[in-house]
Amino acid sequence: MLTVMKFGGSSMASPEAFRRVANIIASTEGNKVVVVSAVAGVTNFLVGAAGEKNIDYKGVLKTFSEKHLEIAEQLFDEKQIVKFLEEFKVRMETFEKALRGDRTDPYYMDAISSSGERFSSLILAHLLISMGEDSVALTSAAAGIRSAGLPLSGYADLKRTKADVNMKVRPMLEQGIIPVITGFYGMNADDRPLTFGRGGSDYSGAVIANALKADELQIWTDVDGFMSADPRLVTDAVPIKEMNYGEAAELAYFGAKVLHPRTIEPARQRHVPVRVKNTFNPESPGTFIHHLRGPQNGMLMSVAAKTDLSIITISSAEIAYRPRIVARIIEKFAENNVIIYSISTSLSTVAFLLHNNDVQQILNQLNNLIEKDIEKINVKSDVALVCCVGDDLLSKCGVSGDIFSVVKEVGTNVEMISEGASDSSLNFVVPMEMLVSTVRALHAQFVRE
Ligand code: ADP
Ligand code: ASP
Ligand code: MG
Repeated sequence: MLTVMKFGGSSMASPEAFRRVANIIASTEGNKVVVVSAVAGVTNFLVGAAGEKNIDYKGVLKTFSEKHLEIAEQLFDEKQIVKFLEEFKVRMETFEKALRGDRTDPYYMDAISSSGERFSSLILAHLLISMGEDSVALTSAAAGIRSAGLPLSGYADLKRTKADVNMKVRPMLEQGIIPVITGFYGMNADDRPLTFGRGGSDYSGAVIANALKADELQIWTDVDGFMSADPRLVTDAVPIKEMNYGEAAELAYFGAKVLHPRTIEPARQRHVPVRVKNTFNPESPGTFIHHLRGPQNGMLMSVAAKTDLSIITISSAEIAYRPRIVARIIEKFAENNVIIYSISTSLSTVAFLLHNNDVQQILNQLNNLIEKDIEKINVKSDVALVCCVGDDLLSKCGVSGDIFSVVKEVGTNVEMISEGASDSSLNFVVPMEMLVSTVRALHAQFVRE
């Protein structure tokens, strides 16, 4: 039995939390590979520090170092701390070098923001050793996680990662060692750290599980599983017992922060079941994500929400009859690596849903594209997408009618609808200020435990 266990920052916020994590690992049967995020708050600190106009190098190094030493000093006795410090110093030197590096380098922020993981993994591996386990802290480079893509939004090169991880990590498992690997980034073709986007350690866990064809991937977090809605929005959200890969992937992509949007695919590819568990309540069964699942109770399984989006509507006479223009517009999104969350067309308009942060870039591109072909461009900012997932939503008659009648009762104006693209989800766009009331009303009406 091989289990890949990923622990998030919220699970590693204090010495007690680290102990809890180490106990969960030690009491798990069989071979284990651990993947960690940074200590809670550390990545935000690094992103903030590296983004400053004038970096206070000494101050950053001091705060960063103290944050980790404070935890280590409470976990280790004198003998253990000496061993820990040996490796800690080496990693601090690497961090300092990266921090003082060339700030115009496009991968500078990747190198800095991924530094927290190199220290949380070190603390955890040493803690496991102090408990009598055989463990080693591995950076993504040492473990063989290979990445590709653009700064701050990389993805794993699954083929190369599989080859490297099997060469580097598999022999350790055969010797009963527990590798503790840095999540969040892989090494790109130039051997530079490239991050997978915020929250990317879940994806790292899935990438390792894919490489080793693990029997299970466990995502340990701070709630009782994948829930029927974001518990911060809906206080009576309930954990979902079982989901299939497609449902979990749709919800994660459309805003359920509990899983990084790309987590499911590497697991699904190699039939690795995923379990979402609560570090603070390990007895709770959590959520089991796999190929098939049992029946669901209410009409909806879960409602997710993606915020900070905009709609760009491009108007041009009979654009529907001029697919070449539409193609050229879409090309601009592709060239700029901008994700389109939804598209809708009419005879004379095409509308795209995208992140607020991408709007200006796309507008610049469209302006110098085809002035003569475009009559008007309209932008509606600060909208949110609601993603409803449930059993065969599209094949059941009247489901969308039921959903939109609740939306109407709330008084929400629907700006855009996307239905039919997936057979388990129905998505629509609402103004940001109506998001919470809409999600709450849908949850109250259609989710049953
Ligand atoms: P970690 O530090 O373990 O990676 P995250 O903060 O990234 O944890 O993800 C867990 C959080 O995701 C939860 O505390 C919860 O607030 C939020 N969340 C949003 N949507 C959901 C959902 N559908 N189910 C569970 N948690 C959700
Ligand atoms: N530490 C990284 C972040 O805060 C990765 C993660 O949490 O998964 O985004
Ligand atoms: Mg997370």
